[in-house]
Amino acid sequence: MAKAAKKKADPKKAAKKKAAPKTVGLAAPSTGPEALVDIPPRNTFNQNLTSASEATMLQILGVPGAKTKDCSPATGAFKQRVVARVDVGPFKVNGLDIAVQSLKAVFDEAEQQIPNVVAAVKNDGMLCVRHKRMNANSFSNHSWGTAIDLFFGTDAVPQGSSKTHRGCLQLAPFFNKHGWYWGAGFSGSSVDSMHFEMAEQTIRNPPKS
Ligand SMILES: [Zn+2]
Repeated sequence: MAKAAKKKADPKKAAKKKAAPKTVGLAAPSTGPEALVDIPPRNTFNQNLTSASEATMLQILGVPGAKTKDCSPATGAFKQRVVARVDVGPFKVNGLDIAVQSLKAVFDEAEQQIPNVVAAVKNDGMLCVRHKRMNANSFSNHSWGTAIDLFFGTDAVPQGSSKTHRGCLQLAPFFNKHGWYWGAGFSGSSVDSMHFEMAEQTIRNPPKS
């Protein structure tokens, strides 16, 4: 009763209160796929999947080119496996034939359940023959075009961050289902939530086309 009386007594205050959420909404953190959220516990993703080792990549796909800091051209027998400018749904990519095909299946499936995420996802690079950012002695798996970096909004989440774009977190189950490892599972300063790659298990036992 006292409450009702108060409201009635001060309609100006009530109007002010009603307008407040608009201002708060502008400053509030985004709830879309570009929102930054914590990487969840390691045991909640990448089940039975590990990152593909350089030894396995070299054994199965061969030397992809020069182990440089920036992108080098693909060379040798490996070059014959590269497909260029293939539409995988949200964008076009260059990469290994089976990885590009699998990536298209990932996005096709995600499109059915989280179309807003697929509509907003951006490609920060797939094929790039180079060494790892954290280890110049080792080829990055981008070298064989079996890895892709994804982001949302304006900026990529840097390697080493314990955060992820919510969109990457939302896409992770689709990647995992198709045998891709999510880089959010890398340890220490190597953690890389924008990075997805065909897992060791999938490189060794690729999907039949
Ligand atoms: Zn990457």
